[in-house]
Amino acid sequence: MVITFIKTILQRLYPYGECRVGKAVYLTFDDGPIPEVTPGVLDILARYGVKATFFMVGENIDKHPDVFRRVLEEGHTVANHSYNHIKGFRYTTSAYLANVSKCQDAIERHGGQTRLFRPPYGRTFWWQRRALVERGYRIILWDVLTRDYNPRRTPEEMLSQVKRETRPGSIINFHDSLKSNERMLKVLPRVIEWLQKEGYEIKAL
Ligand SMILES: [Zn+2]
Repeated sequence: MVITFIKTILQRLYPYGECRVGKAVYLTFDDGPIPEVTPGVLDILARYGVKATFFMVGENIDKHPDVFRRVLEEGHTVANHSYNHIKGFRYTTSAYLANVSKCQDAIERHGGQTRLFRPPYGRTFWWQRRALVERGYRIILWDVLTRDYNPRRTPEEMLSQVKRETRPGSIINFHDSLKSNERMLKVLPRVIEWLQKEGYEIKAL
């Protein structure tokens, strides 16, 4: 109840950003693509026949175009997470937009396309998000943050949080990064199995 109230307030304070979408649930993975982690995620998704959304850092796309192409070829959605994983608070709007555009170029140069953007750390000024919306982007946030990057989190804690917080339309946030690697790969199959058992349709954005 208190958490729901806090979330409502946060959404009021954070215009130009979507935290839940429709009735399905959406698995999202931030900060890749990297060869150490992303292929493991793709293997799990393929095993369960599930599609997901990858918010990618442009720099990583340019470093690992083969991993990027595998994400595309397997039918997942690729999306923009800025070129250098930057915090909006430290940039002017035009510098921020330029970094987002640079990521967009990397996505398109390697054969992808998207109009979905997730701000790194969720940190942007609202007018930076407005500027992106005016340029045709959808700002995709999340409502279930597994905090898989935190070494103190256990797979059990993450799973029970997903069970507690997931509702129709939920956007679940994971990371295909070195920091989350083992914890995330351990909990992901259990999360998918639980969602499927509960009758949720899992979709890519
Ligand atoms: Zn990120």
